[in-house]
Amino acid sequence: MLKKINTWQDAFDNDIDLWCYPKDKSADNILLVARFHGDEPEGEFCLRQMLEELQNVKISSPYNIYILPCLNPSGSKLKTRANGRGIDLNRNYPTENFAAISVNPHTKEMSSGEPGSEIETQIMMKIVQDYDIKRILSIHSDLYLIDYDGPAEILAKRFSDLCGYRLVDNIGYQTNGSFGTWAGVERKIPLITVETWHGESEQEMMKIWHELKPAIFDFCLLK
Ligand SMILES: [Zn+2]
Repeated sequence: MLKKINTWQDAFDNDIDLWCYPKDKSADNILLVARFHGDEPEGEFCLRQMLEELQNVKISSPYNIYILPCLNPSGSKLKTRANGRGIDLNRNYPTENFAAISVNPHTKEMSSGEPGSEIETQIMMKIVQDYDIKRILSIHSDLYLIDYDGPAEILAKRFSDLCGYRLVDNIGYQTNGSFGTWAGVERKIPLITVETWHGESEQEMMKIWHELKPAIFDFCLLK
């Protein structure tokens, strides 16, 4: 049965919730996560739909499925890419290529803070390490493509075929200190990043969810 298994607080006392749809203790753990960036509500919308599905439908996944729908509640309230402290949470990981200032096509330059300085980053690292996560799906918007890090090429190709989003092996710009680098490249955990298209309305976000749903379920069921 689906259960909220942990809640942490960010620097502004917002809750960050982790859910689990369990298989059993001996099963591998996988993770679905969204909203690293507060101005990207599409992924959180999809994962909340996923939680609703799992409340109503029984699936027989070989995994314990961990779901974190919103990593950046402070940025979500402000509708900003960064968290409430002005840090880009997808550039804050203590990776070999960490850079204090990051560049992205949306807002240009932004602070990455100090390596691992943000509570949100510490929570993610703790989840991945404590639960020994074996496969990760991370949802962003709005470049409309599938990207991957670590040994995830076959998994990403399959995901791309199922949802029709274009597969790339490089997003086209530097992502120093990203979660993909930390978990996928440096820890060799297969990691798929979905970049949805931009959902203007709830109706459009529902369309995105229905496009992604078969691929997300496949990701959770595939041995
Ligand atoms: Zn993003």
